[in-house]
Amino acid sequence: MKYTIKEKQIDIKKEVDILVVGGGPAGIGAAIAAARSGNSVMLLEKRGFLGGNITGSYVETCNHFLHGTNFKANGVYAEMENKYKAQFGRSHDIRENSPHRFSSEYLKIFLDEFLIKEGVEISFHSFVNDVIIDENRIQCVIIQSKKGPLAIKAKNIIDCTGDGDVAYSAGIPFEQGRDLDGLCQPGTVNFRIAGADVEALTKKGDGLKRIGKKFNEDYRAGKTGLTCKRQDLPFGRLTPAGQVTYVNYPCEYKIDPTDVDGLTQGEIQCRKYILEFYEYAKKNFSEFENIEISSIAPEIGFRDSRRIKGLYRLTRDDIEDQKVFDDAIAIYPRIYDMLAPDGFMDGDGKMEGEGYKGHIYEPITDDRSYTIPYRCLLPIGLDNLLVAGRCISADHVAESSIRGISACMLTGQAAGAAAGIACNENIIPKDIDVKALQTILKNQGVELPA
Ligand SMILES: Cc1cc2nc3c(=O)[nH]c(=O)nc-3n(C[C@H](O)[C@H](O)[C@H](O)COP(=O)(O)OP(=O)(O)OC[C@H]3O[C@@H](n4cnc5c(N)ncnc54)[C@H](O)[C@@H]3O)c2cc1C
Repeated sequence: MKYTIKEKQIDIKKEVDILVVGGGPAGIGAAIAAARSGNSVMLLEKRGFLGGNITGSYVETCNHFLHGTNFKANGVYAEMENKYKAQFGRSHDIRENSPHRFSSEYLKIFLDEFLIKEGVEISFHSFVNDVIIDENRIQCVIIQSKKGPLAIKAKNIIDCTGDGDVAYSAGIPFEQGRDLDGLCQPGTVNFRIAGADVEALTKKGDGLKRIGKKFNEDYRAGKTGLTCKRQDLPFGRLTPAGQVTYVNYPCEYKIDPTDVDGLTQGEIQCRKYILEFYEYAKKNFSEFENIEISSIAPEIGFRDSRRIKGLYRLTRDDIEDQKVFDDAIAIYPRIYDMLAPDGFMDGDGKMEGEGYKGHIYEPITDDRSYTIPYRCLLPIGLDNLLVAGRCISADHVAESSIRGISACMLTGQAAGAAAGIACNENIIPKDIDVKALQTILKNQGVELPA
């Protein structure tokens, strides 16, 4: 059964040079770089705050995997971190020797000003799920608002929705999940607890790390009795008031991140896992005896979903070969982090062997790196659309690397600067001079091959 929607006229709410859809890491990088090109920029975000998964899913740890390596944050991410630190310091974090973590609440406040100061016009509660195409160009995107659908017209559009929603609406081909069966990594609803015993957690080194390790051993030994298949238990900040943030535990497997039924199942099931975990943690860890659940993330978070087909598809082999592309727009360390899509942590997490089909965890152990080509941001088929963030053109394993928050911000920054060049020269993004793009990015603090 299908219905036909009647044709109707809708108002054009705004006309801008560059439109960024999605205000997560990629959207932040894109909007800032686009604004720096001197063009008018609007950012549409379906939620009421910026930050994407960092704030919407409490992923406050961001670049923890760079800690103790020779790699450093660069580009807009480094600017954001430095300015945030100058204003909010360590965000009450008292964990020893820890890398910098954000408070997602302070970050929400920080990001509003960070973007407004750059001249970006922000529009919250603006969910995009349609476009109008004419002559191979998106003429405008449609937002669903309380006042019904409204059109935003732009010369160039950057899809930073994480799920490639704009590209999908425009009919651009995409891939989703692993080749084997299309399964994505699980969805997670992170949460915070309050009332943890700070003294016990700090008196002999990092107590949260100890708990994470013990949990992992007990889970693998079948001792926890928990129904969630997740075996790991990373934590975020510990505050003097006994709050533990970013309890990254509940995972719902085998759901489709773009399907309302999958999303509903994920939200409900993860909340059940949170309650189960809370009861288990109170009983099994004396440091957590008096805890309460203090907050649950506003929305289920995903590590991957649609990957838009672009002019180039970054592969696992490119990363392994440490390819340096002529049109490189970012350098990133060799890292993979793939939570087993079917929940079974088969293999040892290494790239080789059976682990390749499921769980892959290869942290940074040396100076190996790879580059991301500009062509991965250019979807097949339309002249004025770019994509950035976790939905760029890549295979499933490569995505488990480029999904890093700082990588998403780098691809966003490149897309924003490229859209700026295209607007300024009145050409399409595919035809811009990539050397000029690289020069702009270098001037904005992005590290690129010499
Ligand atoms: C539980 C969990 C733990 C993680 N841990 C880490 C980690 O430790 N380190 C790390 O680097 N990465 C981590 N990641 C991965 C990382 O969070 C993502 O890969 C990254 O946030 C992707 O950035 P993005 O900007 O592409 O998309 P997102 O962060 O998903 O942001 C997309 C934004 O677009 C908005 N949006 C979506 N659709 C629409 C629409 N149709 N219209 C308007 N707005 C829309 C969303 O509300 C959101 O604000 C983790 C992810 C999860 C879920």
